[in-house]
Amino acid sequence: MTVIDIPAGSLFGVGNLPYGVFSTADASPRVGVRVGDSVVDLSVALGDPVFALPILNSFMAQGRARWIEVRQQVADLVTRDIADAAVHPIDAVTMHLPVGVADYVDFYASEHHATNLGRLFRPGTPPLMPNWKHLPVGYHGRSSTVVVSGTDIVRPCGQRKSPERDAPDFGPTRRLDIEAEMGFIVGVPSTMGESVSPDQFAEHVFGAVVVNDWSARDIQSWEYVPLGPFLGKSFATSISPWVVPMLALEAARVDTPVQDPKPLPYLRGEQRWGLDIDMAVEWNGHVVSRPPYAQMYWSPAQMLAHITINGAAASTGDLFASGTVSGPAVDQRGAFIEMSWGGAEPIAVGDESRTFLEDGDEILISATAPGADGARIGFGEVRGRILPATQALR
Ligand code: MN
Repeated sequence: MTVIDIPAGSLFGVGNLPYGVFSTADASPRVGVRVGDSVVDLSVALGDPVFALPILNSFMAQGRARWIEVRQQVADLVTRDIADAAVHPIDAVTMHLPVGVADYVDFYASEHHATNLGRLFRPGTPPLMPNWKHLPVGYHGRSSTVVVSGTDIVRPCGQRKSPERDAPDFGPTRRLDIEAEMGFIVGVPSTMGESVSPDQFAEHVFGAVVVNDWSARDIQSWEYVPLGPFLGKSFATSISPWVVPMLALEAARVDTPVQDPKPLPYLRGEQRWGLDIDMAVEWNGHVVSRPPYAQMYWSPAQMLAHITINGAAASTGDLFASGTVSGPAVDQRGAFIEMSWGGAEPIAVGDESRTFLEDGDEILISATAPGADGARIGFGEVRGRILPATQALR
């Protein structure tokens, strides 16, 4: 038997208890909870076969009462003696994609980001489109290319058209970028034909992860009119391996910015809350930006209400991401196209300078939030390295 040591100031104390899927040299992927620098194997510690599965979906579908019950069981467990066979050092495990991703939707909920991108993509016109303050703008992405942190990203090829040329050419993207975002994962499905109000969010949404929505800006700017992002986004989206339960984020709730004009009734809850999550973007080991999630215009509950307002069902494993998190300052922007102003103003990365990503570059995005009792809780990180393009040029 052992007692798990939780280092003072750990971002993974008993107020966090995020869920993930891990494997060891002699055990296939199963569900674990991170505590300090250890991973507790729930299939062993609680003996429930739902935790021997290689994704969280079946557990997430059991609903909020069960999420509360298991969270309490784990909190009790980790403060007492626990069987040695149930505890692994974090360095000895391999993390896997924690959920079977059903649908993937990406929003565009930062007013600073949407304004900056509007200026860059549509100079000379109002930066926000007329719909932007009336609904959370979003698009459906590609769930099958959502990958876990640590997965290398191959530079995509595609059609690129420079403003000086009449026709596009084909080749590796020259404007490979990131988008630092938070993502929310649905546990309990909704019924097709019915919508989920903002006040029902807590019954459906299980937890949150850090997201890097890799973006090829030259492919995107040529293809996106008039139906929106497609191949410039769908080659890869990375998520952090630990799903922080919404139950751990109650102390992180803050008011969203004032919404003017007032949204339509289906987008109004009794209380409109955002999350006070501090994010950090590291480029080859150097922090270049600290995006503030608290400033996001549209709340996660409004996003889910909007996804379902036409009667579309939300499913277990749905991932909806916030869109790039950007604050007002240059070093609070969550995408390099904004930080470098379309490539015109290079970004200092240690002793080097960059505009967009080069082969071999590595990006790490992390996030923390206030937890219960004054402690901070961590989301861990989402990491990815750029590999050279491999597609045949044709
Ligand atoms: Mn995005």
